[in-house]
Amino acid sequence: MWQAWRSARTWSAQLAATRLVFLFALFMSAKTALRYACSMSSLLIIEDDELLRDGLDAQLAQAGHSVTAAADGEAAQALLESQRFDGVVLDLGLPKISGMVVLQWIRKRLPALPVLILTARDGIDDRVQGLNAGADDYLTKPFNMAELQARLAAMLRRARLPAFGGTLEVASHSARHLRVDATLPQAWLGDEALELTQREWALLSLLVTHAGRVVSREEVLESWQSEPGDSAGLASNALEVYIHRLRRKLVDSGLNIRNVRGLGYMLENTAN
Ligand code: CA
Repeated sequence: MWQAWRSARTWSAQLAATRLVFLFALFMSAKTALRYACSMSSLLIIEDDELLRDGLDAQLAQAGHSVTAAADGEAAQALLESQRFDGVVLDLGLPKISGMVVLQWIRKRLPALPVLILTARDGIDDRVQGLNAGADDYLTKPFNMAELQARLAAMLRRARLPAFGGTLEVASHSARHLRVDATLPQAWLGDEALELTQREWALLSLLVTHAGRVVSREEVLESWQSEPGDSAGLASNALEVYIHRLRRKLVDSGLNIRNVRGLGYMLENTAN
C-alpha cells in the first residue's frame, strides 16, 4: 500500500515536471513568435494574375512578411485606405484602375510608402515613367524570386532609415523634393538646406515619418516636451503657429500639412 502510494507520488511529480517543461517550451515559442511578428513587414501585393499573386503571397509569407493581396486597382485602394502597410509590390497592367494611376494615387495619399513596380513592361520609357511617377524600384517579369526579395529588403531598409539615422526622401511631383536626415538632424528642399528651429525640426520629422497618416496634437506636444532643456506646459495653440511657419517653409515642395479637424495634422502630397 505504502509502496503503491510512493510510486504514485513519484509519477505525479514526474508528470508535473513534464508539464512545466511543456509550458516553458510553449512560453519560449510564443516569445519567439512575438519577436518574429515584430520584425516582419506588412506588404500589399497588387497583381491580377492569380497564379503569380498566390505564388508571391506564399513566397513572401514564407520569408517572414505579413502579406495581403489585391487583384485589381480598386481593391488595392480600398485596402490602402483601411490598413497600414510597410511596402507595396505593384503590377502596372491591372483591371479597373491601372497600376500607374494607383501609383499616382499612393504618392498623393501616402507619400512615404515604398512601392516596387513588378511588370512585364520592360521598355526604358516604362521604367523611367514608373520611377518618375514615384516608384522606389522597378523589376521586370519574368523575374527571379531571390532578386525580388533582395530588392524588397533593400527598399524597406531604406524606408526605415530615419529611425536608425540616414536620409529619407519624401516623393512628390515637385522638382524640389523634401529630404530629411535624422542623424544630423537636417532637412533639404532640393539642394537647399531648410533653416529649422528645434521645435520645427521635431514637428517636421514626426510628420515625415508618419507621412500620409495623421499625427495628433498630443503626439507633437509630447515630442516637444521630451526635448532636453524644454520646460513642459507649452500652450497647444502655439502648435498652430509652428504649423503655419513650417507650411511656409514647405512652399514649392509639392507637400502640404493638412489640418485634419479634431484629429491632428497630416503631411500629404498636393499634386494630382
Ligand atoms: Ca497584370
